Amino acid sequence: MNYMTEERQMIKDVAHQFSINEVLPVANKLDPEKEDIPDELRQKLADMGYFGITIPEQYGGLGLGCFEYCLITEELSRSWMSVASLIARGNGMIGAKSMTEAQKEAFLPKVAKGELLAAASLSEPNAGSDVANISCRAVRDGDDWLITGNKYWCTFADGADYILVLTRTDPEVNPKAKHKGLTFFKVDKPRGELPKGVQGSPIPKIGYFGWKTWELYFDNVRVSNNDMIGDEGKAFYAMGDFLVPARAHTAARAIGLAQGALEDALAYVKERAQFGRPIGEFQVTRFKLAKMATEIEAARQLNYSVCTKIDEGGRCDKEAGMSKYFASEMAERVTSEALQIFGGAGFTQLYAIERYWRDAKLTKIFEGTSEIQLRIISDHLLGKSKFD
Ligand SMILES: Cc1cc2nc3c(=O)[nH]c(=O)nc-3n(C[C@H](O)[C@H](O)[C@H](O)COP(=O)(O)OP(=O)(O)OC[C@H]3O[C@@H](n4cnc5c(N)ncnc54)[C@H](O)[C@@H]3O)c2cc1C
Repeated sequence: MNYMTEERQMIKDVAHQFSINEVLPVANKLDPEKEDIPDELRQKLADMGYFGITIPEQYGGLGLGCFEYCLITEELSRSWMSVASLIARGNGMIGAKSMTEAQKEAFLPKVAKGELLAAASLSEPNAGSDVANISCRAVRDGDDWLITGNKYWCTFADGADYILVLTRTDPEVNPKAKHKGLTFFKVDKPRGELPKGVQGSPIPKIGYFGWKTWELYFDNVRVSNNDMIGDEGKAFYAMGDFLVPARAHTAARAIGLAQGALEDALAYVKERAQFGRPIGEFQVTRFKLAKMATEIEAARQLNYSVCTKIDEGGRCDKEAGMSKYFASEMAERVTSEALQIFGGAGFTQLYAIERYWRDAKLTKIFEGTSEIQLRIISDHLLGKSKFD
């Protein structure tokens, strides 16, 4: 099936040019220095409308689908996955489907313009794959709520304009149904700082530079009832809506960085010579590149089909899991092979290959690990295990 209309091809081409001209030089300079994505680039993304790709036009977005979102994501990730991730801090991050009409009118136009970007704080020290195990509490206090607890792995907690925090609002925890009684709150904050009442420190990660990922402690942080996103106690169900496009988006990130690694390897094999010939003249190298290109295209076509299904409104948690699993495993293999083609040069920060290789690994871990995707897929095939 040919998914690419003329309009989509144009969107892809424009995003590609933007990525090569505006993102790649910044990534090549700042990623090795572990510096944050500059505000100037953030503004350029906003000017392109990339924070509002999937936000309906009535709220100031581009009104496009998950397909176009992933097309643009892939192109940005070709240069720097962190920038492809930054656009997710607008599109959909806030859980737009769960918002009231008043919240949509108040927030979405600002989100679409990049004036209101999110960080998501779901994970905790004891709640990673088992996210329903969270213990961060929100307790009612008159018309407000007070949030207290530890959070872990909150990317962009400092740079965002608000943090979407997953809390436990029902103190009764049923060990067999821990997913019940969870609620999202939007915690507003000044850009560049942590929210009032929150302390934190950056986690010393090995990639995904361009922003920091934080360990946070919320100490009686006050939010109003109007800052509740979605229904009280029902956050786990809203996460399903949020995670399906998020997994398609992660697949697109993996495909993009694998494509970046392939393109860099294709250029390198023409310039690097050994034994009196360019290394691209060795059949072993040519076959490696052929296999890499084939794997990338297979992952891309699977993701196109999943995005199409998402845009048609079909249920596709299994398919999104397949796409995320296949693309991230592929990206790890392809970037590793690309680094091998660079030989010793690949094991330096003089080339971008090491960035693609490091970041590819992360695509297998966040938004649900590869093992969790396999669990989702196998549950669809066999039904849930009776031991769960
Ligand atoms: C750089 C980075 C940025 C992140 N950013 C954010 C963010 O912004 N917001 C946020 O909320 N979270 C974020 N995360 C957290 C991320 O979502 C979690 O790391 C991920 O869900 C895995 O949880 P965990 O690290 O606790 O691993 P664990 O859940 O402890 O898993 C450890 C291992 O056990 C396996 N495993 C666990 N359960 C099962 C099972 N049932 N069956 C088979 N295998 C299993 C896993 O697959 C994995 O291999 C980030 C993580 C990283 C590394």
